[in-house]
Amino acid sequence: MPNFTEIAYAQQLDAKDPLAHFRDQFVIADPDLIYLDGNSLGRLLKKHSRTAQDLIERQWGKRLIRGWNEGWIELQAQIGSKIGQLVGADADELIVADSTSINLFKLALAAVRYNNGRSKIITDDLNFPSDLYILQGVAQLAGRPLRVQIIPSDGIHGPVQALAEAIDNDTALVALSHTVFKSSYTYDMTAVTQLAHNAGALMLWDMSHSVGSVPADLHAANAPLAVGCTYKYLNGGPGSPAFLYVQRAWQAKLGNPITGWMGHEAMFDFALDYQRDNGLRHFLTGTPPILSIALIEPGVDLLLEAGMAALRAKSAQQTSYLIDLWRTWLEPLGFRLNSPEETAVRGSHVSLGHDDGWRISQALINDMRVIPDFRKPDNIRLGIAPIYTRFSDIHEAMRRLRQVMDERLYERYSLAENGVT
Ligand SMILES: *Cc1c(COP(=O)(O)O)cnc(C)c1O
Repeated sequence: MPNFTEIAYAQQLDAKDPLAHFRDQFVIADPDLIYLDGNSLGRLLKKHSRTAQDLIERQWGKRLIRGWNEGWIELQAQIGSKIGQLVGADADELIVADSTSINLFKLALAAVRYNNGRSKIITDDLNFPSDLYILQGVAQLAGRPLRVQIIPSDGIHGPVQALAEAIDNDTALVALSHTVFKSSYTYDMTAVTQLAHNAGALMLWDMSHSVGSVPADLHAANAPLAVGCTYKYLNGGPGSPAFLYVQRAWQAKLGNPITGWMGHEAMFDFALDYQRDNGLRHFLTGTPPILSIALIEPGVDLLLEAGMAALRAKSAQQTSYLIDLWRTWLEPLGFRLNSPEETAVRGSHVSLGHDDGWRISQALINDMRVIPDFRKPDNIRLGIAPIYTRFSDIHEAMRRLRQVMDERLYERYSLAENGVT
């Protein structure tokens, strides 16, 4: 085997990679472009164009309203049950609907109304800002004094000990990201769910940054509630609808606060009063966006075919490889590792911190044809999607990053951040 800093080393790993052929299923419009942002927006599959064409020309164009009875009305549950196979949920426990933020709102408000004698929601400062804003809004709507307590971390690792101390019998809900968006720290879902349950609190996991890259088993963890995103590692397309999971035992106990006709036990009776369905469907609200939902399926099918265990094994090897290259090439140039060193608690992206991180990420995108993203204050996030990222992509991206530094290419860029980062 060549030394790991040589491109031949990466090429040998690619040649041995049992998942390598899945890359052929994706549209790679520009072979020289290295895409390391699949944790924000996954790639387009070749299958997507065929699926979209059939949807528009045949299903909508020719079948018109009959489409609802020819599959559309089942689509949320059908794709939900497939996502359920990725995360250890049964077919009647996970459904595609709305956005992650909206689903979080529905489940969080349902949970605090259920645990109505308690006055705290616990989360941490690594959680996604939209999640924190939603929880703060939920606290205002609870109809009683309820506060959101944000447990501080070291910026990289989940503050498990401090969470354990804060979760008590006044806690209505614990809401955390399974894999956190900046550092990629990944919680032990079973252990933290147990902490919540020991105190009689409900646990709500946001799986947006783990689903499709980090294995999870909601049943084994005895997790009652979860939400997650489909446009990241599931490759569902920009703004594709999200999913929500409610463990069977909780479905009748919790009420969806947005009571629309799709959650009614007999929606086509058009009765004047809301009477909810008792299963998962009462967490639905309005008419689903079929064109967007249908495009989630090809990516999920591909991940199921690859298998979560194989995807995780490759992802862990790839993030470790990236960290080895960082230590040799980039740590001496002032880059910090803003992700956990321990593979077991690391998700599928690696954040490298640098005082000039914003300008360096601009030079990478514009001069070096490498697409990461940037998260304040200093994180250059390098996302690895094991279904299509190659070891040689990682080697080449790190080589180009070094070139940005050697040639000081970032100095031409403005310090002002703008646009979608
Ligand atoms: C991406 C992401 C979201 C996105 O929520 P939207 O409602 O789709 O904007 C929410 N939470 C987490 C943890 C995420 O990573």
